[in-house]
Amino acid sequence: MNELTVYHFMPDKLNLYSDIGNIIALKQRAKLRNITLNVIDINQTEGVTFEECDIFFIGGGSDREQALATQELSKIKESLKAAIEDGMPGLTVCGGYQFLGSKYITPDGIALEGLNILDFYTESQKDRLTGDIVIESDTFGTIVGFENHGGRTYHDFGTLGSVTYGYGNNDEDAKEGIHYKNLLGTYLHGPILPKNHEITDYLLEKACDRKGIVFEPKNVDNTEEEAAKNVIIERVSQQSK
Ligand code: GLN
Repeated sequence: MNELTVYHFMPDKLNLYSDIGNIIALKQRAKLRNITLNVIDINQTEGVTFEECDIFFIGGGSDREQALATQELSKIKESLKAAIEDGMPGLTVCGGYQFLGSKYITPDGIALEGLNILDFYTESQKDRLTGDIVIESDTFGTIVGFENHGGRTYHDFGTLGSVTYGYGNNDEDAKEGIHYKNLLGTYLHGPILPKNHEITDYLLEKACDRKGIVFEPKNVDNTEEEAAKNVIIERVSQQSK
């Protein structure tokens, strides 16, 4: 049986609103392709290299947890940056997405240093951007999720798509997340992958391509996944009326 390995960074600090569900979804969708997904939890990064890693995942956390995780991850920021540049697939959620940038400014105006892997920044405000969110994406189709963040993120990189309901990166430009090479960053909790099988499969397929594993079958029965997605689309359309 083919195998892939996921590095799950800082699960002891970064796991808001069931972010762990993303790992469950990756496992399940890999199983549908007869692939075993090994998950390695990494809470201490000293000496960690990416040779054995096929996909990495970083969840979200409060500002406090996020600052502690940034300190820990700064020990491997060069190799994390190199892995991203090399096209390693990765998913980062909310706090985990924010600290890939240069800085995170707290609602009190204190600038916390980010990992500075990508050139963007986040500024937080006391009023939070919360609720259901729907995005139209050229790559993934309709994406749904739940967001709850004070941070407003600004950048000129590619994004997951255009926000048709909710906020996304900030309350100005109606864009959500970041898509750089095979790295995805997002504000969507809830978690994002069980609700959006296209994104789960994207990460798995990219990992398979890099490892020389055939990702098949490409099409599987998504009736239940689509039904779950439609609950949110329906709810949002009721609220918009
Ligand atoms: N720093 C984040 C914020 O903008 C933390 C929340 C999160 O990860 N959901 O609020």
